[in-house]
Amino acid sequence: MDYLNRFDPQIASAVAEEMERQEAHIELIASENYTSRYVMQAQGTQLTNKYAEGYPGRRYYGGCEFVDKVEAMAIQRACELFGCHYANVQPHSGAQANAAVFMALVKPGDTILGMSLAHGGHLTHGAAPNFSGKYYNAVQYGLNPETGQIDYDDVAALAREHQPKMIIAGFSAYSRVIDWQRFREIADEVGAWLMVDMAHIAGLVAAGLYPSPLPHAHVVTTTTHKTLRGPRGGLILSADADETLYKKLNGAVFPGQQGGPLMHVIAAKAVAFKEAMTSEFADYQRQVIANARAMAGVFISRGFDVVSGGTDDHLFLVSLIKQGVTGKDADAALERACITVNKNAVPNDPQSPFVTSGLRIGTPAVTTRGFMEEDCRELASWICDILDVLAEQKNTEAVETEVRGKVESLCARHPVYGQSNDRANQ
Ligand code: PLP
Repeated sequence: MDYLNRFDPQIASAVAEEMERQEAHIELIASENYTSRYVMQAQGTQLTNKYAEGYPGRRYYGGCEFVDKVEAMAIQRACELFGCHYANVQPHSGAQANAAVFMALVKPGDTILGMSLAHGGHLTHGAAPNFSGKYYNAVQYGLNPETGQIDYDDVAALAREHQPKMIIAGFSAYSRVIDWQRFREIADEVGAWLMVDMAHIAGLVAAGLYPSPLPHAHVVTTTTHKTLRGPRGGLILSADADETLYKKLNGAVFPGQQGGPLMHVIAAKAVAFKEAMTSEFADYQRQVIANARAMAGVFISRGFDVVSGGTDDHLFLVSLIKQGVTGKDADAALERACITVNKNAVPNDPQSPFVTSGLRIGTPAVTTRGFMEEDCRELASWICDILDVLAEQKNTEAVETEVRGKVESLCARHPVYGQSNDRANQ
């Protein structure tokens, strides 16, 4: 930061403000995490200067001998971590990884079947404003409104009716274990590709705490920055025996979708994969789930509806329909108390997607900063205190001030990049 401060104090000061925000706010956005200093150091290296279009050993630029080593190691570690034969570490983001799979396996106008955004799918799974909804005939499945879970018979019926060329499983907001094998059976019955987007749960899968989709899907995509706790980026994997598939996928990433890979980010991905192979990482993921369950339990005991009645992973959805509170108001009140969450649509939501009647709460970030179940139970009860006042339609200022004070001392006890909690500093 010293160099930056000398040359560009305006940007340095905004970065410093964001660093302070990250220390002083409790982060419950399920897709965010705090990456290690090892990862950040790899990402801040001279590798950012290098063009390396192509793949290791087959580049369109000279001087690639060292970045080749980095990419080859990243690929080898990704395959070892997830138990597969093929990895492409070049996608700049999760959305680009998904776009590349579409390009490799289906043609514009083809029918695809994915989970709707309103029920927990991602934009790239066929949502209308996204390329996946604009250029493909996107059919969408949702959750059973009674159980808050995927209804596999309904997915199978939609597949039989619409005969998709590709089925997409995976989610941005779903708290239960997905039956990957059932998805594969449905895909096989109609002759469709099965793509699984495990962006949210990749860390849990790496630690063996959530069933791996790799034995079942033709292709698996993920981001590297959510539960996996690496740098921002995408990754494509396959355990399929058909090597022609790998060629199609590589060609769709480069030159299909992207130009030069971000070699500094690929180095950081390789570091994150190494971290994910440690026993500390598995302990961390176990705690992520324990913390999510502890929080969900408090919401239930305080009379709130948790979609599907609990969680098997790192997140859960709270429905505020019964309380007549909108996700938008709840999100804003919590933000004033220095607690960051997402408003989120819930099954049978009477509100628009911009307003919603729910909250998505995730524990990857707070667990990285060292919160245990007891901290998480306390935190959940403060959130309930604020939601109770909102439900009574009373002024929330006093409760927000009280909670903000408690948040401040909890954050001070668990610094994100502080000495005591940061393995990278030891
Ligand atoms: N897939 C899923 C399931 C996601 O939740 C997300 C992001 O939240 C993405 C893909 C897109 O990732 P990115 O933001 O890196 O493009």
